[in-house]
Amino acid sequence: MHEYSIVQSLLDSCDENAAQNKATKVTKVVIKIGVMSGVEPELLKTAFDTFKEKTICEEAELIINIQPILIRCNNCLNESVLQKIQYCCPTCKSTELDVLDGEDMYLMQLELE
Ligand SMILES: [Zn+2]
Repeated sequence: MHEYSIVQSLLDSCDENAAQNKATKVTKVVIKIGVMSGVEPELLKTAFDTFKEKTICEEAELIINIQPILIRCNNCLNESVLQKIQYCCPTCKSTELDVLDGEDMYLMQLELE
């Protein structure tokens, strides 16, 4: 499953971060999931809880923030958050858009001990 490989690389990053900071455990993991990333937050959470056992994240709490699609319109230059998944500027209806956020998953913050 897609989510399992994501969790695996997430745990790897936590491991690296903890090693760099000489921490012995991770207490909190904050991630951001874009609505267009294709990642299912519920599945990801389940996968995380399954895989974190016997890792540095064993006691970590996973906080998931959902990131809506943020676009900048190349026509009217407004930045907007799209409520629906439709690539169209809410202000001028142009479809000449740059997607600024909402397409990826990011590791935002770790709390270490
Ligand atoms: Zn526009």
